[in-house]
Amino acid sequence: MPTALVVGAGVFGAALADRLVARGWEVTLVEQFTPGDARSESGGETRLLRYSHGADDFYTAQAWRGRDAWRELGVLEEVGVVWLARREDGWESESERVLRSLGIPVERVDPTTLFPGIAVDGLAFALLESAGGVLRAGDGVRALVERASAGGLRLESGAARPEGGRAVLDGRRLEADHVIWACGAWLAQLFPELVRLRVTRQEVVLFDAGPDWAGVPAWLDFDASAYGHGTIEPYGFKVASDREGDAVEPGLRPPQAPDTTLTGARHYLGTRFPALADAPVRSSPSCHYSLTADANFLFDRHPAQPGVWLLGGGSGHGYKHGPALAEHVADVLEGGAEPEPRFALGERTPSRALRTAGS
Ligand SMILES: Cc1cc2nc3c(=O)[nH]c(=O)nc-3n(C[C@H](O)[C@H](O)[C@H](O)COP(=O)(O)OP(=O)(O)OC[C@H]3O[C@@H](n4cnc5c(N)ncnc54)[C@H](O)[C@@H]3O)c2cc1C
Repeated sequence: MPTALVVGAGVFGAALADRLVARGWEVTLVEQFTPGDARSESGGETRLLRYSHGADDFYTAQAWRGRDAWRELGVLEEVGVVWLARREDGWESESERVLRSLGIPVERVDPTTLFPGIAVDGLAFALLESAGGVLRAGDGVRALVERASAGGLRLESGAARPEGGRAVLDGRRLEADHVIWACGAWLAQLFPELVRLRVTRQEVVLFDAGPDWAGVPAWLDFDASAYGHGTIEPYGFKVASDREGDAVEPGLRPPQAPDTTLTGARHYLGTRFPALADAPVRSSPSCHYSLTADANFLFDRHPAQPGVWLLGGGSGHGYKHGPALAEHVADVLEGGAEPEPRFALGERTPSRALRTAGS
């Protein structure tokens, strides 16, 4: 039976552990906190499941492949996702073309039929992905680990460090046929000579909007780098900015958003969803992004250690891809595929094409 040691139980590591267990591997998963902890990038409240990636059909297809896994795990709120497009010929129309070519449901809609009292100023059109939705983030990671544990996964607690081809945990040397370091933002600290990530502080604001706003689609405003979702209990109505925040140490960011973030979120709410202009804030948790230069993920062999692999670089859009990325990684570990070239270690050309405009 092949063996694997996966370090890091964020969505990338947990989904990989789950896939390998399902394929009959003997797997140990090491996590310094607990799976789904809000200090990791995959923990906390919610993440959007959208298939649109502009002109990029690779990530569009990969996001679509992950949908069934999320449904099986029972953490997908199937409310749809709507793009509030400010230009006729922008990122959203490129997405629409790719979605249609891949047979992924998409349609232009009148946004006033979707949201009570939405202000449509500045919008060219609205694009609905009816099969998209909202993932319960911490719950999804825990569900992956629970399913893998039921299949025989061994979960170890503590912070591991690399030593040659092994991991050292509390003075113990852990070995396996393959050691996969899926450590999110911590990957760059563990392998500074190989991995470069920008780790930025990001905040979300959750408003008390009440039950009238339950069941509405999640929404993204690409050109304003704003996104969010309707009421999802126990969290509330989410408003967030995809603009990159200040540099931060992973695990050491302040737990709450500053006042400027609350003001910015309320301003967006007031202009786009005026009925919620005075909605009370429920909470304003903070998180971090682990950004590669071009927002492509990272998965590659360690160049000097056979059997050692690096997996990460979620770049602010990785959560939804966890299960499908894990299938690819498992194929590679089993020798049935080569690592996807766009995930390779090494220099990248800076680009934002996979996320939002950042303005
Ligand atoms: C505010 C915000 C909004 C986002 N919105 C979306 C979205 O809408 N859709 C989407 O798809 N994605 C979204 N993302 C991005 C997505 O959440 C990340 O890309 C993804 O969670 C990255 O997962 P990961 O497993 O690489 O990292 P992590 O979740 O951080 O997992 C790494 C794990 O490794 C552990 N670890 C680190 N070092 C060690 C060690 N030495 N020993 C043991 N354990 C260790 C950490 O504790 C952590 O649990 C968002 C992210 C943020 C912050």
